[in-house]
Amino acid sequence: MDIRIEPVDPRHRRPKPEDETKLIFGRTFSDHMFLMDYQSPDGWKNARVVPYGPLNLDPAAMVLHYGQGIFEGLKGYRWKDGGIHLFRAEKNWERFNRSARRMCMPEIDANLQFRAVEELLKLDREWVPHHVGSSLYIRPTMIASEAHLGVRPATQYLYFIITGPVAAYYAEGFNPVRIYVSDQYVRAVRGGVGEAKTMANYASSLYAAEYAKKKGFTQVLWLDAVERRFVEEVGTMNIFFRIKDELVTPPLSGSILPGVTRDSVIQLALHWGIQVSERPIAIEEVIDAVGSGDMREIFGTGTAAVVSPVGEISYKDKSYRVRDGAVGDWAKRFYDEIVGIQYGEREDRFGWIRQVKV
Ligand SMILES: *Cc1c(COP(=O)(O)O)cnc(C)c1O
Repeated sequence: MDIRIEPVDPRHRRPKPEDETKLIFGRTFSDHMFLMDYQSPDGWKNARVVPYGPLNLDPAAMVLHYGQGIFEGLKGYRWKDGGIHLFRAEKNWERFNRSARRMCMPEIDANLQFRAVEELLKLDREWVPHHVGSSLYIRPTMIASEAHLGVRPATQYLYFIITGPVAAYYAEGFNPVRIYVSDQYVRAVRGGVGEAKTMANYASSLYAAEYAKKKGFTQVLWLDAVERRFVEEVGTMNIFFRIKDELVTPPLSGSILPGVTRDSVIQLALHWGIQVSERPIAIEEVIDAVGSGDMREIFGTGTAAVVSPVGEISYKDKSYRVRDGAVGDWAKRFYDEIVGIQYGEREDRFGWIRQVKV
């Protein structure tokens, strides 16, 4: 498929951030975006890179009413030699297509998704920050654009990619977070859409997240929707526990988002000879292990932060300090290794890196 390129008029370029180390996540966007339309039964067409700006959407567009929309999140990293690289992007393209299938939306060939990012970055390469730790956040999205009221899968879709520079997550060093265990509200239920990166999951998480924030916590720790007993995720991250020298994470049971960072941590742990258990873990086991001192570390994983150590956990109005609120060695080790690979400073022994030819 041809990709039409319409560069922005230089007079309408967007202001570049003055300080790459002080960007607020998700506020600054690059000059261009990629767009592509789908019409059933013809398929995808009209791929184009155009100046960033508002979409032209009918108020009856089905995504606005029935939430048929999915997205991805990945980053472009600038290496010291100036080259721009993606980390395991093929996992994101695959997951995008899995989310699409679950939401009755059309898939997009992985090569086309990669080419779209490449064409976009050819125009916006200067938007990839130079400062180590900062990166270009890439947000591929698909929405049902057909103007129609009535619940059924749409026949028209819009795919777009927007990007924007983001600062290093830990500008002032690792900061262990306080988390609140929600035993009242749930994120997703097995058989539902929890394993798809679809918009509804984030809308349904807001209420509990606001509640936790009001109580002074940074994130919600979600329990399973049926028994409200087994740990699922933390905020929009997967979760890991180091119990003595076993690394435990909940299995991908259908209600958990299969994170790329989660998979990377598991692969590294196995490579390093760490015992990894993907098994259900009840909140009582977590609390008991924190109490006895067997819980050496708790951390979340996701593209934005890579690794986010948990310093405190609150369950049924009681608070428990994990490791006296200090950062664990494993969290630090996974973080350093993954970030090192992303910036080309450590050996890419698993073939996780792909250069973008800009
Ligand atoms: C995106 C996401 C993650 C983390 O996935 P990564 O691929 O590691 O960024 C975890 N949980 C939820 C709910 C997510 O949306």
